[in-house]
Parts: sequence; C-alpha cells; structure tokens
Amino acid sequence: LLYNEIMEMKGNVRVFCRCRPLSSEEVSKGHTCSFHFDPSKNRKLQIIASDASRKQFKFDHVFPPQANQETVFAETLLIVRSVLDGYNACIFAYGQTGTGKTFTIEGTEETRGVYYRTLEDLFKISTNRSSTMQYQFYVSMLEVYNENIRDLLNSKLDIKQTSEGKQEILGLTLAQAYNTDEVWELLETGKRNRSVGSTSVNELSSRSHCLLRVTVMRENLINGTQTKSHLWLVDLAGSKRIGKTEAKGERLKESQFINRSLSALGDVIAAFASKNQHIPYQN
Ligand code: ADP
Ligand code: MG
Repeated sequence: LLYNEIMEMKGNVRVFCRCRPLSSEEVSKGHTCSFHFDPSKNRKLQIIASDASRKQFKFDHVFPPQANQETVFAETLLIVRSVLDGYNACIFAYGQTGTGKTFTIEGTEETRGVYYRTLEDLFKISTNRSSTMQYQFYVSMLEVYNENIRDLLNSKLDIKQTSEGKQEILGLTLAQAYNTDEVWELLETGKRNRSVGSTSVNELSSRSHCLLRVTVMRENLINGTQTKSHLWLVDLAGSKRIGKTEAKGERLKESQFINRSLSALGDVIAAFASKNQHIPYQN
C-alpha cells in the first residue's frame, strides 16, 4: 500500500497505548495490574477500577506489557518510512511520569527505542530502495524546559515565523549522519547536555520535553528535483495533577509550564483531528 492510501484508511492522527510491565518494586509491594487486555481485541483496553467496575477505551492499537521494543516499533514503521517519500510526520510519547515514555522513545543500549530503530531503518531502506533517489540525513536534538528551548547539540535557539508562515527554529544544529553509530553518538551528546539544574537525568527528563528531529533531504538524480521532510520523535514531559504532588516553588512552576504546554498540544491535536481550518500552532 502507498502511504497516502494508508492515511486515508487510518486517518492522520493515530493513538497507540503501551502498557508497561509492573516493576519488581511494584510487585514486591503487592501491586497488581489494573487493566484487562484481550489479545483478540488489540484495539481495546479495559481499566479495572478499585470498585471492580470496568471502563473501556479504544485505541488504534494496544500493546500489552509483554510487547517488546521491536513489536512496538513495527507498528510505527510506516509512519517513519513516509518521511522518505517527502511527508512530514511526528511521533509523541505522552503519559504520566513513570509510564515508559523514555523507555519507548529512547530505550537503553540493550533495548533500543524508537530513536535508534528509526534511523537504523531509514539508513537501511534508503540504500536498498532506489538508485534514482539520493538521500541525506541530518539529526537535530532540542529540549523544551519551562518554555525555553535549548539546542542539545549546540547553543541557544529562537522560534520565528518564516515568510511562508511556518514556524522555524533558528540556528538549530543539523548534524549530518551517515550511519547508526554516528546517530547513537549524537544522541549520547544530546543526553549529556540535558543538564538543567537537576541531580539526575531521569528526574529532569520527566520535567522537560525532548525532541529529536530527523531531516531527510531527497534528490531525484534523473530530474534533479529535491524535497526536504521532517520526522519529529518526541519524549514529552510527564503529565501530572498539580494538587496531588503538593509542589511548591520551582517544581510548581515547572508543573504549570508542563501542563500548559501539554494542553496547548492537546488543542493542536484536537483541531487537527476535527480538520479545523485554524490550528493553534503558535500557542
Ligand atoms: P517515563 O519516561 O514515562 O517517566 P520511563 O521510560 O522512565 O518512564 O519508565 C519508568 C521505568 O519503567 C524505567 O525504569 C523503565 O526502564 C521501566 N520501563 C518502562 N517501560 C518498560 C517496558 N516496556 N519494559 C520494561 N521496563 C520498562
Ligand atoms: Mg521520561
């Protein structure tokens, strides 16, 4: 199937739900799983409330706890590959702190996540794909913390509207990458630069949004036409309910910024899904 046929079938916005396994700590504390997953209905998830009542939610796909990184990535493959055809695409991980966003998007050296698998796939596919198209890949990495954006591969950044009315990030580093090893090194550099006043990287990663942008430059060697497309892979800050976390001072400010930006993102997606004319990107 062609990418646009799939889009017509499945729509422009897709929502997947991934349930992580209970951690050993949770198991030792006697926690149990509060959802029911029926493998024959991989689009439905039942949440079992404390009073044993059940609520059902429908997604484009539900991944049970035993689904590994490869299985999850396989479902996103077509979205990722569409960037080679000149489409723009974006994948967000959204959820409360501790639900597995960073694990899914970034992964670990042993169980690599969407970042690495994406680039690995794009390098592989683009070399096998066609002799008439030449591809170049660039990686950018940035962080949004309290409404400030930082280039994780270099210096300070600013968002400006271009003459065509697009939002552009001025000065964002484009690091050209030729293979997955180089990409892994760039990701490591970016991660080291995520240091804003925090004692642990994991703690910080929950309070800022981390965005990896893959830029694909494509040239048709026969007629010389060029296209540029972007794939955004986003590890969002953890959503929280402020009242519950009794945050004060710096933490409270962070939570307000996070909630405000997540609700602005929700507005964009809602406008997008309802095919609204005006999409509040500016917010
Ligand atoms: P978040 O980024 O949403 O705050 P993390 O990705 O840091 O959450 O996940 C919290 C913890 O759970 C981490 O220790 C992570 O390694 C573990 N974890 C998350 N998802 C999985 C999974 N699918 N399988 C195994 N461990 C997981
Ligand atoms: Mg995280």
